[in-house]
Amino acid sequence: MTEKKILLIVCDGLSDRPAKEFDMKTPLQAARKPAMDALARHGMNGVMDVIAPGVVPGSDTAHLALFGYDPYKVYTGRGPIEAAGAGIAVLKGDVAFRCNFATVDKSMKIKDRRAGRIKAGTSELAQALTGMSIDGVTAVFKEGSEHRAVLVLKGAGLDHRVSDVDPHNEGKIRQSTPLAPKAKKTADVLNEFVRRSFDILSDHPVNKDRVKKGLPPANIVLPRGAGSVNELEPMGDRIGMKCAAVAGVTLVKGICRLVGMDVPDVQGATGGLDTDYKAKAEAALSLLKTNDFVFVNVKAGDVASHDGDFRMKVRVVESIDMMLGMILKDLPDHVIVAITCDHSTPVSIKEHSADPVPLAISGGGGRVDGVKDFDEISAATGALGRIRGTDLMPIMLGMADRAKKFGS
Ligand code: ZN
Ligand code: ZN
Repeated sequence: MTEKKILLIVCDGLSDRPAKEFDMKTPLQAARKPAMDALARHGMNGVMDVIAPGVVPGSDTAHLALFGYDPYKVYTGRGPIEAAGAGIAVLKGDVAFRCNFATVDKSMKIKDRRAGRIKAGTSELAQALTGMSIDGVTAVFKEGSEHRAVLVLKGAGLDHRVSDVDPHNEGKIRQSTPLAPKAKKTADVLNEFVRRSFDILSDHPVNKDRVKKGLPPANIVLPRGAGSVNELEPMGDRIGMKCAAVAGVTLVKGICRLVGMDVPDVQGATGGLDTDYKAKAEAALSLLKTNDFVFVNVKAGDVASHDGDFRMKVRVVESIDMMLGMILKDLPDHVIVAITCDHSTPVSIKEHSADPVPLAISGGGGRVDGVKDFDEISAATGALGRIRGTDLMPIMLGMADRAKKFGS
């Protein structure tokens, strides 16, 4: 018996609803997609409630479920994912936050929650804050795109159950409060970090220069979305496979890094509509040589849906199909290929929805059902029926002859 490798392709938000303007077809039904259809025709199909029926998945919780983790157990907040995406190693015991650079007046009233969407100089501002030591805790701070940044607190006795400093509107900044008795130290350290960030940033040359130019100074940091990774066992250990990922968008890269996958930077993989599909296909094939489990995320379908652009979404389906075609043409033997979505993002509502997503799994001499097309409606008639996101990993492991026997 040969243990097979697994390739999982997740088309972010590609799943949709029928559209009146397009003969009641979904973008998957309206597009020409020979590679996806071939995969469906040669394998088993089904639909999947990625979290649970009636739950609208975020991309973060959805990917955790697809990787076999119960998101209700392991997801504590967006902070650790953003931090890992920004390249900071988030370890057990750390507490991580998403942050904004913002503009406040002397009474701590917010004038601009995004500091005028500051672009230049955030790296210098971050340099002035990172490494700060407060009560035995070290603050690691890094800038993201525009006004965004991440903060990771590292030290003993930290707990992620603290409230946000960011009031999420233009009111006064909030004091973080502990939401559990054990989190008091974390809230105290966080409040002190925010207070010092105001002192340090107010005097920073980058901000003096901004004020001179009439721009709002980025004179405070507003943390939110505290989270920790205490329950996350590395995916490679859980499934006994060497795992790697191809992803362009920071959030998905962050999740992959958090679960311990190798996530090389792929030139041209942007996470946007302009992503380089050929580069992604080549990266996936190359990673399959040295890894047992390779994951590919393509974000563009979700982007087209949030923009409400049906025609663009059809083009995205066709581009992903071309990528899949390139992969299938040069795919080595003994690889299970699964294609699915992390959630539906119907163009008609421009938001994620609770509609189940289509799934096709093929390869390794597995069963073949009668489904001929890869789309939301055809998939529902397939042999896999209707499953949950956390069922996907065990099913793929079973098809790859890597599942453990229960009993004798
Ligand atoms: Zn998504
Ligand atoms: Zn989305």
